[in-house]
Amino acid sequence: MKKKVVIALGGNAILQPGQKGTYEEQIANVEVACQQIVELIKKGFQIVITHGNGPQVGNILIQNEEGAKLVPKMPLDVCGAQSQGMIGYMIQQTLRKILIQKGYNSEIVTVITQVVVDKHDPSFQNPSKPVGPFYNEEKAKAEIAKGESWIEDAGRGWRKVVPSPEPKTIVEANIIKQLAQVGAIVIASGGGGIPVVETKNNVYTGVEAVIDKDLAGERLAVDVGADMFVILTDVSGVALNYRKDNETWLRNITLDEVNLYEAEGHFKKGSMGPKVKACKKFVEATNKPAIISSLDKLVEAVEDKAGTRILPNISREKGK
Ligand code: ADP
Ligand code: MG
Repeated sequence: MKKKVVIALGGNAILQPGQKGTYEEQIANVEVACQQIVELIKKGFQIVITHGNGPQVGNILIQNEEGAKLVPKMPLDVCGAQSQGMIGYMIQQTLRKILIQKGYNSEIVTVITQVVVDKHDPSFQNPSKPVGPFYNEEKAKAEIAKGESWIEDAGRGWRKVVPSPEPKTIVEANIIKQLAQVGAIVIASGGGGIPVVETKNNVYTGVEAVIDKDLAGERLAVDVGADMFVILTDVSGVALNYRKDNETWLRNITLDEVNLYEAEGHFKKGSMGPKVKACKKFVEATNKPAIISSLDKLVEAVEDKAGTRILPNISREKGK
């Protein structure tokens, strides 16, 4: 049976810092990511893809805001669904093109994915995840008066903040797993999934929140029975003393080691922190490796030649 790899694409795989987010820019970035993924497919791996959506949702929110005089605004969960469709489409089309060019073929499908969160998650009392563009104080104060949470960001202006609850379960988990089992390349849980709460048994409704895409990716990886969970970002892996004189890049580390480094405060909240946490959770749940790597080193990382690999404690003892 083919080894199953769940790949979480970081924001820069679709939009680079400083870019505006034109269709041409995004499709060019997606092409670079898909080239790497096809190299892994050529090696015989089965792939499930998840991805971030921050800049895309940000742009959709601006379209909603600016277009509100003409057409009704959509809530954040619907904007999230839109971004899953948009990014999924670009990946589906580009991946197919490259596969065909190289003499391969596969069904490729995007699943609009709802991720269940607990309505009592503490983050609902403390919204902290910024969404959308910066605005002036006047706009922020008006929205705060309507019940929204906004924060001032060190002179850059005001931004709306929403809760960032923990992902619990994936509503579409079964069908995603079945699609992967019949050999499809599945794109799922984009942007961390659309956050929903259960209102009645098996009935869900969207909430205004953002789930961390790496933590949701971990849920996806466990649900599809992945042999490996790979988080791709814009750095080559995980460093101790990141950007300090004594910076040290890590290759293979056990859960015990990573817990120690985490307690020492090496992994920044909101960037490397959730990636390390997601990897830990995957390794704890499955006893299989989780990897953090840069996009251009995907194949090497899967072959244990690059990136940072988090391993169960036992494998080190066995000398693996
Ligand atoms: P993504 O869009 O891929 O989720 P993030 O910006 O959220 O990217 O996270 C990747 C960033 O984490 C890197 O660009 C790096 O600046 C930062 N980072 C924080 N702590 C560390 C660390 N200990 N080792 C490596 N990178 C780190
Ligand atoms: Mg991130």
